[in-house]
Amino acid sequence: MATLNLSSYTVRQLMELDACTRCGECIEWCPTFAEKQELDAITPLRKIETVRNFVRQQYGVWAILFGAKPLDEEAVKTHSVGTYDCTLCGRCSVVCPVHIDTRALWISMRETLVEQGVYPEPLDHLREMVTTRYNISGDDNAERLIWSQNLPEVPEGVKGKEQAEVVYFVGCVGSFYPQSYGIPQSMVEIMEHAGVDYTVLGEEERCCGFPLIIAGMGDEAVEVIRHNVEAVRKTGARYLVASCPSCYHTWKHEYPHILGEELGFEVLHSTELIDGLISEGRLHFKPMRGEIVTYHDPCDLGRTSGVYEPPRNVITSVPGIEFVEMRDHHEYSLCCGGGGDVEMADKALSAAVADRRISQAKETQAKYLLSACQQCTRTLAGAARRNKVRVRVMDVTQFVARQLE
Ligand code: SF4
Ligand code: SF4
Repeated sequence: MATLNLSSYTVRQLMELDACTRCGECIEWCPTFAEKQELDAITPLRKIETVRNFVRQQYGVWAILFGAKPLDEEAVKTHSVGTYDCTLCGRCSVVCPVHIDTRALWISMRETLVEQGVYPEPLDHLREMVTTRYNISGDDNAERLIWSQNLPEVPEGVKGKEQAEVVYFVGCVGSFYPQSYGIPQSMVEIMEHAGVDYTVLGEEERCCGFPLIIAGMGDEAVEVIRHNVEAVRKTGARYLVASCPSCYHTWKHEYPHILGEELGFEVLHSTELIDGLISEGRLHFKPMRGEIVTYHDPCDLGRTSGVYEPPRNVITSVPGIEFVEMRDHHEYSLCCGGGGDVEMADKALSAAVADRRISQAKETQAKYLLSACQQCTRTLAGAARRNKVRVRVMDVTQFVARQLE
């Protein structure tokens, strides 16, 4: 019998379930519902309404008087599909007139679904990989620096200095997915060029825990989180820099909350570090010849973390480019389809969302579509290939590295 444990919800979230006015504004803006309109359960409004009903059935006045009603198993299953077919892009939160923190609410719903045992099967594999292999791909974690093998020369920082001012946290995708090796390679090139005192953790780096947190399995991430924080503290670093927005968000906003203590160092996204290096006059760029460049805001960097301007400052520091925004940008930016573990739950849906975003990039006539996330660049590059859109998709770090003077 499916029951509902409310321990995943904060008091505020329980109030938010009642605060929803059913205005439907969020439905217009939901990128996954736009591609899968047959599944009403995806919409924020329906997810909230469903859980509100579950709460009433189990904890409402009638439940108190006459006993809790068991939850309808089919309703729980449908709710699970809707909740995991969500990229956690947070767009619904931006447009909600009563300011419901929807993304956090969806994660709490996922936690409840995990407890009920109603979640996509591939998440079990993900949990096992992160907790036993310490990365999302199940590779040997000792191979974390494999991306550095074809650098012309392996710098001291990549060999792993014991003490440094900056720890560069590469992240699982940059470490193990060949398509993304160019991002850490570019970061290293940029930091070397600017004379940054940095190191990497090598096999001591473990998954940041983000994929488990958003899967609703956050409790299982605590061990890797503790390990990562201790590994950085040992280096005496003043800064932890991540080029993955999800790692960045997790380090900056989730770690202190989960551990209940300050980290003792500052967390920066790679674009914030590069923006600072440009301001200090430590990086200079070769000019381009009037090429149009556009930028895709990663959800976890923009909406979720509020970092909008540093990547734009970096891009527009390259002389001679014409920077053009896409139709949806900043807090209204359309998701790339790669977030929220949706690729694991529904690959076709993830691809459909990416296809819509690439059509917005095409409208700008940009030669370069930049993002600041390995996952966004991967999903958008795939969409460009599928749709035969002639645009070069790359990470801001790669763009910067190739323009270094
Ligand atoms: S977070 Fe994004 S995908 Fe999920 S319900 Fe909100 S708008 Fe839709
Ligand atoms: S926009 Fe907010 S209040 Fe309106 S239906 Fe969506 S979640 Fe409810």
